[in-house]
Amino acid sequence: MIYQGNAITVTRRDTPNGNDIAMLTFDLKDESVNKLSSAVVAELGEAVKAIQAENSLKGLLIASGKDVFIVGADITEFHSLFDKGEAYLEEMNLKVHGIFNAIEDLPFPTVTAINGLALGGGCEVLLTTDFRVMGDKAKIGLPETKLGILPGWGGCVRLPRIIGADNAIEWIAGGTENRADAALKVGAVDAVVTAEQLEEAALDILDRANAGELDYQARRAEKTSPLKLNPIEQMMAFETAKGYVAGKAGPHYPAPVEAIKVIQKGAGEERGRAQAIEAKAFAKLALSSVAFNLVGLFLNDQVVKKKASKYEKQAQPVKQTAVLGAGIMGGGIAYQSASKGTPILMKDIKDDAIELGLKEARKLFAKQVERKKLTTEQMAEKLTNIRPTLSYGDFGNVDLVVEAVVENPKVKDAVLTEVEGMVSENTILTSNTSTISINRLAQNLKRPENFCGMHFFNPVHRMPLVEVIRGEKTSDAAVAATVAYARAMGKTPIVVNDCPGFLVNRVLFPYFGGFSFLVEQGADFQHVDKVMEKFGWPMGPAYLLDVVGLDTAVHANEVMAEGFPDRMARDGKTAIQVMYDNDRLGQKNDKGFYAYEEDKKGKPKKVTDEAAYALVKEVVKEHKEFSDEDIIARMMVPLCLETVRCLEDGIVATPAEADMALIYGIGFPPFRGGALRYIDAMGVAEFVKLAEGLAEELGPLYAPTDKLRQMAQNNEQFYS
Ligand code: NAD
Repeated sequence: MIYQGNAITVTRRDTPNGNDIAMLTFDLKDESVNKLSSAVVAELGEAVKAIQAENSLKGLLIASGKDVFIVGADITEFHSLFDKGEAYLEEMNLKVHGIFNAIEDLPFPTVTAINGLALGGGCEVLLTTDFRVMGDKAKIGLPETKLGILPGWGGCVRLPRIIGADNAIEWIAGGTENRADAALKVGAVDAVVTAEQLEEAALDILDRANAGELDYQARRAEKTSPLKLNPIEQMMAFETAKGYVAGKAGPHYPAPVEAIKVIQKGAGEERGRAQAIEAKAFAKLALSSVAFNLVGLFLNDQVVKKKASKYEKQAQPVKQTAVLGAGIMGGGIAYQSASKGTPILMKDIKDDAIELGLKEARKLFAKQVERKKLTTEQMAEKLTNIRPTLSYGDFGNVDLVVEAVVENPKVKDAVLTEVEGMVSENTILTSNTSTISINRLAQNLKRPENFCGMHFFNPVHRMPLVEVIRGEKTSDAAVAATVAYARAMGKTPIVVNDCPGFLVNRVLFPYFGGFSFLVEQGADFQHVDKVMEKFGWPMGPAYLLDVVGLDTAVHANEVMAEGFPDRMARDGKTAIQVMYDNDRLGQKNDKGFYAYEEDKKGKPKKVTDEAAYALVKEVVKEHKEFSDEDIIARMMVPLCLETVRCLEDGIVATPAEADMALIYGIGFPPFRGGALRYIDAMGVAEFVKLAEGLAEELGPLYAPTDKLRQMAQNNEQFYS
């Protein structure tokens, strides 16, 4: 035994040719995966020192004792590390470089056996060795830019020297997880073998290097010297990439371009200088609010996933499902279920509706075939997972039903009581209603404990969120089965309690309320759209209303106004109502706040429509000038306050779930972290002051809650 730590063991062993080598195994105690926490990195430093102190070693093999290799640095430490400031982070990374360089400089050949997932810091560890053998099921990559940072432990220096600048830019700027065949193709690894052959292949490489068949010194020289690129190649690799990547990432996500700049700056330098450049840039980026929020997002996502996994473990099996209604949502739900492998009956009352639902599913599968994600045989097989029907004949075997018929309480009541009589006692019934109370729909059911909401978002195949709505009588078993089914469909379920609008629409409609006020006070709705898009929303409020449909918006607004009359009921007409009254329903009839034309691909393209402006005049009461900052405040404050109320009312359990629901459900700008993170970033006291000022002018929609005021006084935050 050369070294024994909590995560790392180093033993001596012989290769088949009798070379005496060290085997360094990562196997973090009491954890299911290997992570590079500060403690593990410190251990790695000690382990390397112990290896250096040994005599007569002829090689090093780095391996993992778990299913994964190393999933990366320990992200739960990031916020507290980032808090220590730029100088600390730069110094920290230089120290890690020292450890990693020591592995690279060992006086004998080195190899990594990559048995499973190797990401971020885990991938940077394997880049230190001279050779790499990869299991055929393993994946490697540097996803740091997705967290708003860049690979800071040598990834920006070593990867381009190993696989070329253009490939490295693709991997690093894209943050991709790369399969073994792709890794072999670009030369990131030297061989791909099955998991069983991995160790043998790695030992063979060490023997061949010791026998002089493989030149490990040449490998090393390549990694430690400047990149070999002439000025034209440099220009092609870096300048073109920067333009392309900047366009793709957008102005709010600087990390991918910063990573390219680091690769470029370090390209002409030897290892030490290039690493110093990387360390400096990492520290700077890590202190940005974008990195803070994206790391927060990752952690929130873990909270949401853990909660879902807990439910999943208690869930009864969901092997056969059914959807009632083959419309926009029903068709989407059937496709998604079939595509992910859960057979589903699709029932409607009309033949042509079923035909339409099937046509939509076929179209979506065909796109997958076009993109080479499916073969035509796989498409045919998956399509058989959808069984269209006009009767309840086979409903006796169904484990879970999603009701997705028209949004009419009487129709839903009738359909739900009818289907309850056709299924078994244990079947879970769910409704995809967007506005009708789950408690109200449960009233006429014989087994209300088996019933809950399962609220998908449109388009179902694209939107990641499913709100699972627990009614007063809903059992844990019903929630668990619904969560498990949502996960099986590849969605992110978040469990919320029942109230008008549930969580997401309850928060979205006050945002539309803010929009209505702005228009009434003279703001140009197209300008509001532009400001909010620049702020980071995928589309501005007027455009979003057109996509949602003005009829749907007016209806949902009525429900919200009835549920929360103090702040959501309005005297007089809003711009939204005016559009609806004039049969401008949005994209569905090609006119709303904008008019819609077909673009070359047949997709709706929005254009300015003077008729919409003429109509809006009816509600404009003033002609105020608004700065961009004013517009953002007037739009964001009501949305954030409603999120606070949902948390205070227990509609959603944690800030993490609230923020993730908004990001996954309505496209809240991810780099801002969510509504509650947004308040934290502004400072609760500052936010309360802003809201109070607006409440004086605009009323209760903008009034902070007593508890929030209290938080401001106590200097508290939503996230500690
Ligand atoms: P839709 O009008 O496109 O489809 C409704 C379908 O239900 C039609 O095909 C109709 O024939 C069928 N239907 C009516 N009565 C039926 C019955 N008794 N049995 C079986 N089928 C019946 O509506 P949609 O947009 O798909 O909405 C469906 C539900 O999903 C609504 O509750 C809606 O509020 C909700 N929802 C819609 C969206 C959206 O953006 N469209 C988003 C989330 C939730």
